[in-house]
Amino acid sequence: MTPMKTIFLSYWRAFVDFLYPPVCKACGRPLAAGERTLCTDCRVHLPYTHYEDWDGNPTARAFYGRVPLQRAASVLFFTADGRVQSLLHALKYKHQSELGLYIGALMGRRLGRSPLYAGVDYIVPVPLHPAKLKKRGYNQAALLGQGMASAWPTGGGGHGAPAPKPELLTDLLLKRRFNESQTRKNRAERWDNVQAVYELNADAGLRSRVAGKHLLLVDDVMTTGATLESAASALLEGLPDVRLSVVTAATPA
Ligand SMILES: [Zn+2]
Repeated sequence: MTPMKTIFLSYWRAFVDFLYPPVCKACGRPLAAGERTLCTDCRVHLPYTHYEDWDGNPTARAFYGRVPLQRAASVLFFTADGRVQSLLHALKYKHQSELGLYIGALMGRRLGRSPLYAGVDYIVPVPLHPAKLKKRGYNQAALLGQGMASAWPTGGGGHGAPAPKPELLTDLLLKRRFNESQTRKNRAERWDNVQAVYELNADAGLRSRVAGKHLLLVDDVMTTGATLESAASALLEGLPDVRLSVVTAATPA
């Protein structure tokens, strides 16, 4: 960016901030000068799970017997004060794409420091249905993945030699284009329907690029794990020789 453009953008931002004073995306209080996205109080007190350092954590255990994963973790807890819920709600429904990169960066820094996630080659966001993507304008999981890839430290989990950073792959896993109403189906039928919606990109070059690699599937929230299980199964069925791990931004405490 040229210096002129940088100066213009900083004035423009000051002007927009004057018209719409920025608030903390977690608690809604006005931000102080120098604070961005989150107020200092929220940033310091984010409820981290530390699951990325714990192999048998509850997110990982939720997938036992369902789908064979290398690792699984959620980075933040949903808490009673609702701050993490507000963050993820804003990310999903209020066009807060900057917030996706911010939370993704938090996730990437933590996983990248953990030896459990050393050697992850590709970050694969859970895809959004194309109709939803068109309506929302962005896939929140892809933004998280983008933030993760850019903030992932290159130290290789403390093993000396710098490890390559994982790369974001948004077109490996796809969501099929059909869009049938699920409201009249019973629970089992709904589940089957969920399970059927993810498919692998047929591109042979892309498939050979990821062969034998360690993929990290990313989504915003882990509740029952049904979405992630179905996306993970689609990846593992199509690519039997990959290693697969899962991470979400948040999970209930
Ligand atoms: Zn706050």
